[in-house]
Amino acid sequence: MELDLQPLCLPSDNERPIVIAGPCSAETEEQVMTTARQLAGKGCHMFRAGVWKPRTKPGGFEGNGEKALPWLKQVKDETSMLIATEVATPEHVELALKYDVDILWVGARTTANPFAMQALADSLKGVEVPVLVKNPVNPDLELWIGALERINGAGIKRLGAIHRGFSSYEKKLYRNSPMWQIPIELHRRIPNLPILNDPSHIGGRRDLIAPLCQQAMDLGMDGLIVESHCSPESAWSDAKQQVTPDILDYILSMLVIRDTVAHGDTLASLRKNIDELDNDLIDLLAKRMRISRQIGEYKKEHDMTVVQTKRYSEILDKRGAQGSLMGIDPECIKNIFEHIHEESVRQQIDVINK
Ligand code: PEP
Ligand code: MN
Repeated sequence: MELDLQPLCLPSDNERPIVIAGPCSAETEEQVMTTARQLAGKGCHMFRAGVWKPRTKPGGFEGNGEKALPWLKQVKDETSMLIATEVATPEHVELALKYDVDILWVGARTTANPFAMQALADSLKGVEVPVLVKNPVNPDLELWIGALERINGAGIKRLGAIHRGFSSYEKKLYRNSPMWQIPIELHRRIPNLPILNDPSHIGGRRDLIAPLCQQAMDLGMDGLIVESHCSPESAWSDAKQQVTPDILDYILSMLVIRDTVAHGDTLASLRKNIDELDNDLIDLLAKRMRISRQIGEYKKEHDMTVVQTKRYSEILDKRGAQGSLMGIDPECIKNIFEHIHEESVRQQIDVINK
């Protein structure tokens, strides 16, 4: 399904990307107002705060609910920042709109649930509000696109996506693995859909926010949504990943925004080189497959099995080591050779069955 989109038209400064900043949760009126005033003082145009908080286990701080909405309204009236909050149910949508929330976002846990997404979409029919849809917790691009389609199907044209990373059982450097190839593929599939990056929920740690922001910019993402709190260490949720408005301003001021459009002949000629090399690679692969088929003939004549495990492991190990000597990640080389081997096996089976 084609999405029917209009530009998000969110405020930003020329030299900076679109930035939405604010605390994970709206905790108290004082925390909300102090953080908002500091952010507005740094030139921030959009304020985020969670009013309803989806928590993994019961007993944690689940948000103040409706009680916090007048605080957000006060932020808007006093600072002129636009206000944004997470909605997960039609009731949330109704309340957020009642308090003039300007931007709604859908959290990762909600995006993963098509029933919840459809209920949200139905509640947005006839409403004009920009909606940002976070990626689902699991790395499933179709589910993400499906959620966007549901919201768009309800008539919401000012639509954007938020890349917040994906859960995995194994905890590595990041709280949520970024799997950049997924938002990149989303951009390839829906080029006019703006994508914001959420370095706070990807990193899960303050010190990862700056490099993640830079990486998002280098990949041509349209903006950032970052958790910022007047006193991060004492935050009621996500304390480890929040930064003060001061630090956020410093991080944003250090960002290098590169051009996404190609300039001059240099890039064109480099791309031509790449095209030629890709042609050579495919030629070489075809030659390799012809030899594979000859090996298939030999195996057929001598009644041998197609897959010779020892030979296969030897190829993977040797090629991996070779790649690493040439500055290529051995895992990447192994993956490539796994695919090549798979096709080789298919070709040999084809020969043997003839
Ligand atoms: C949040 O933005 O505070 C939040 C709960 O995010 P996510 O849905 O990405 O976990
Ligand atoms: Mn959070």
